[in-house]
Amino acid sequence: MLETAHALITRAAKRLGLGDEQIEGLLKTDHEHVFKIELGSSKSFDAYRVQHSNKLGPYKGGIRFHPEVDLDEVRALATLMSFKTAAAGLPLGGGKGGVSVNPKELKPEELEELSRKYARYLAPYIGPDKDVPAPDVNTNAQIIDWMVDEYAKITGDKTKASFTGKSLNNGGSLGRDAATGRGGVIALAQLLKHLGRESQDITIAVQGFGNVGSFFATVAAADHPNWKLLAASDSDAGVYSTEPLDAIELDKYKQDGGRFRAYKKEGVHIISNEDLLNLDVDVLVLAALGDAVNQTNYKPSQASIILELANGPVSEAAFNKLSERGVTIVPDIIANAGGVIVSYLEWVQNKESEHWSEERVNEELERYMVKASDDLYETAEKQDTSLKEAAFINAIRRLI
Ligand code: NAD
Repeated sequence: MLETAHALITRAAKRLGLGDEQIEGLLKTDHEHVFKIELGSSKSFDAYRVQHSNKLGPYKGGIRFHPEVDLDEVRALATLMSFKTAAAGLPLGGGKGGVSVNPKELKPEELEELSRKYARYLAPYIGPDKDVPAPDVNTNAQIIDWMVDEYAKITGDKTKASFTGKSLNNGGSLGRDAATGRGGVIALAQLLKHLGRESQDITIAVQGFGNVGSFFATVAAADHPNWKLLAASDSDAGVYSTEPLDAIELDKYKQDGGRFRAYKKEGVHIISNEDLLNLDVDVLVLAALGDAVNQTNYKPSQASIILELANGPVSEAAFNKLSERGVTIVPDIIANAGGVIVSYLEWVQNKESEHWSEERVNEELERYMVKASDDLYETAEKQDTSLKEAAFINAIRRLI
């Protein structure tokens, strides 16, 4: 993962004519905090916070609790965050944190102890103007609330701007839940506008109908009546219809704990995840996992546009093959930037002791996403590159 991230950055930097020393500067991390957290129960876990770059503002990036977390993964994710915040035009840097733990094996009181000790160790190195962590895989608003409380106890900070992703009654922002999916809708709308296809009917399949995928589908249904959702999947099956599916009804079905393999409605067929990748649709939205489209299954995709809402859902090998076939891939660092944009807006609200309406948050999100998307399409055209390379070029221009 670190190698892939470095290769992407190096390629874009070379296109801009940067020398070896400047490229080294872009790749190296500012600080790497590696420590152990011991619980009262004597369980011990490896913990990390990597701060990659604060050239544009405080380090920003999530904390993941996962058994496979290691230093190289955290380094790669921290590095990519700097490029994501830069490409999105935010006054923030990049960082990432993690603990090598399976949180499902911890008792609730152990999870709280782990979260508080993580914040306690890092308190001297983080804070509203230094480094602002957020939730990521297996961490949530409750975990962040414990961390904010611990940080406030140690430092006396009352702003709650030390972390984002807090619960709503503890300084969290309205609109955060939907932000990544909503941002994806805006990125796709800007691309279609750019291609002169904004008033055409567009057919869509969504792989992964979780938080991001379901908000993408429901926001799209509300804002773009000419976009037709023909398929959606969860981890074991998908639903498909030649007539548009009702995104709100599907969302309700999933919220109530339904599995797509058991979904019953006239005209709706149950398909496999592999089939979903193979459908004859205009846009394939990947909102599930990394490497979902890879060397073994890249052939099936018939869509002319792929929207990367998950992180790294198209493997490097598949990316090259699909690009050769003329498929336009909207890269994750822009397509899913809505999440970090609303995290930024949460931080601004905390610092200014304000609480914005959801409407205002969505307007600000739209402003950032439209600008970042337009910059992306313009650079790709001028430099004659893929959108992915263009995103890194835009980020590098701001980071050097
Ligand atoms: P989630 O757990 O809510 O949803 C994931 C969905 O993918 C679930 O519906 C799950 O059933 C489905 N899924 C799992 N394996 C699948 C498979 N093999 N085929 C099809 N579907 C499968 O997670 P989320 O928060 O929606 O995040 C989705 C992706 O977006 C992740 O890669 C995450 O890292 C990325 N992301 C999320 C955010 C955010 O704000 N939540 C921000 C940026 C990136």
